[in-house]
This record gives sequence, C-alpha cells and structure tokens, in this order.
Amino acid sequence: MSSEELKSWIAIHKDEIFANDAVGTGCFSYLPGEVIWAVTKRCNLQCKHCSIAEMSGEELSTEEGFGIIEDAAKLGPVKFGFTGGEPLLRKDIYDLIEYAASFDMQVVMATNGTLITNDVAKRLKKAGLERAAMSIDGIGSLHDEFRGVNGAFKDALRGLKACEEEGVAVQLFTTVTRTNYGEIPKIIKLADDLKLWRIYLIYLIAMGRGKEISEVCLSTDENMKFFDDMANKQKEAKTWLKPICNPQYWAYLKDAGLLDREEGLEFTGCTAGITRFHIFPNGDVTPCAYLPAKAGNIRESSFLEIVQNSEMFKALRARALKGQCATCKYKRMCGGCRSRAYAISGDYLAEDPVCSLGDRG
Ligand code: SF4
Ligand code: SF4
Repeated sequence: MSSEELKSWIAIHKDEIFANDAVGTGCFSYLPGEVIWAVTKRCNLQCKHCSIAEMSGEELSTEEGFGIIEDAAKLGPVKFGFTGGEPLLRKDIYDLIEYAASFDMQVVMATNGTLITNDVAKRLKKAGLERAAMSIDGIGSLHDEFRGVNGAFKDALRGLKACEEEGVAVQLFTTVTRTNYGEIPKIIKLADDLKLWRIYLIYLIAMGRGKEISEVCLSTDENMKFFDDMANKQKEAKTWLKPICNPQYWAYLKDAGLLDREEGLEFTGCTAGITRFHIFPNGDVTPCAYLPAKAGNIRESSFLEIVQNSEMFKALRARALKGQCATCKYKRMCGGCRSRAYAISGDYLAEDPVCSLGDRG
C-alpha cells in the first residue's frame, strides 16, 4: 500500500480512532475523560517494569472508593477504570465495579488476566464491567520472563478467552522496549487472530522497578522508527495500533501528511491532569498512572476539590510547557508525554525529549 492509500485508509477509519470503545482514551482525546483508580499495589506477578510495587501507604477502603466513584460521576459520563497491581486481588472489586456501573459511566479494568476463569468473567460482566485491557508483552516465554512468572502467558490467554466468551470485550496493552521489539508483529497477529479491536503499544516510562531497566527504553530515533513501523503495519493489521505515552504519534502522522484532521480539533495529545486523573492505592491523586507527582490526597481533600484547585492540574490545562514543546507547532495536538518528561527530568512541564518533531528536530 502506498502512502496515499494509507492516507485514505486512515481517512475512512478516522471516526473509529475516536470511538469510545477502548480501555483508556489513549493519550490523544479529551473525551469522554477518564478517572483511573489503582485499587491495590498487590499483584500475583512480578513484572520487571512495575511502576507501583514500591509505593507506600495503606490502601483506600471500600467506603473511600465509593466516595471517589461518586465524585467521578459528577464530572459527567467519564470512563471509570480499575487497575492495580492486580485489581482482582481486592475482595470488594465486584462491589466497586457494581457501584461505578450504577452511575452513567463506562466501567473498564486493566488486569494481567491470569486470575480470570469463566466464573470470574461472568461475575465481572454481571457487576457491570464493559471492557478489559490485558497485558501481553511477548509470545510465551518472553512474556513470562518480562512478567516474572512462568505460565503467565498461558493463564493470560485463558483469561482473555473467558472474558470474550462471557461478553467482556478485551483489548491488549503491550509495553514496547528494545527487548520485545521483535515480538510486536507476533502480538499484532495474535490480536488479529483473536479478532481483538485494539492494541495499546505503551512506551516504557522508567519509573518504579522500570528505572532498573531504563536501558531498554527506545531512543528518539528508535521511537520514530517505531512510528514508521506501526504506520506501515497498520496498512495490513485489522486491529487498531495505538501508541501510548507517545502523543507525538498523531503529530508524526500529520507531519508525514497522513492525517487530514485540523490541528487541535480532535487530537488533543496528552490528557494528563486535563481530563485524565489517576488515584494511587494510598489515595494520592496524580495526572497519569505513569506520573507519580502528587496533586493531593483524597484523605485530605475530596477528589473533586483536587481536580478543580490543584496548581499542577491548572498548569497542565494551560499547557505551560518548556523547551521544544513550548514552541512546537504541535503543542496543542500533542503536548509531549508529561510522564516521560517527569521521569527523565523531574519536571512534569519540561519538554518531552524523546521527539524529533519540535524545534530541535
Ligand atoms: S502523561 Fe503520557 S501516558 Fe499519560 S496521558 Fe499524557 S501522554 Fe499519555
Ligand atoms: S516537541 Fe513536544 S509538543 Fe512537539 S511533537 Fe514533540 S513532544 Fe509533541
């Protein structure tokens, strides 16, 4: 397929990019907004890149969780997501899902999938879970190695199939590194074979345990090649390939003349702290799962007060960015990954250095 053909292919499918049918809005769209609660840091796996395992503080109670859900519903029909650790390790997870689903919100969950049997999937569906995202970082032993437990791949596939059989739609989360780069075509084939509709290809943000493997993060040049590879792969893949922690993918498509959408009209780039809010197990509220800078804690202020009054969120809403992101023509449609800027420089408003599309490019 030529570039022109790819361009018209994207034009034909463009509304699907914005369809509200994914776990996560994907670092590019403000709507419908997202509140994600990491309900526990406990997990039955030991992933090499885990961002949460070393965090401290006591888990929020069921009642505190109900309070977050009520506040989130006041923001409008947002997506409410449960994640972890492994959210299924919380005994009250079905009650929490059921309560969230009783409001006008789409309820989704990110899970490693290994604890899901047909009975579990049935209970999740009955509680009101609409969609699940499952992490697959390689095929077979490479996934097991990354996730730190033998058999994790086999168990995740069983969980995935159980969800699909019981009516909970599944998408994949794949962390992209130098180590598993060669596995990505196989994961795309797996998604196509299973007729899954989305893969979120997540750039590894070196935080938590991930700091110990920061050498496997893609460099700027490798990341641009990754964009080339994904745009080419999209010509044949049926599943949508969406780079995450990489809002400059949409700027890249625009730069390559592959996207006709007007800048800033729909692609909004990084949503962290604008319409995406994350709550860690200890109640810390942050702009994104990969950005552990605290805007407040729900044991000190209500979730809504933090969302409205946090200086951090105000600065992110204003896109008060620095370096190449401040002057970039794609500032509004991209804004750089604020988590990556923070992980690399300690400043969530700093330029995203893994990009060659800005003034320095
Ligand atoms: S901080 Fe990065 S991962 Fe989070 S919403 Fe922004 S682009 Fe996406
Ligand atoms: S310089 Fe910043 S705003 Fe511009 S495309 Fe790159 S990451 Fe996005």
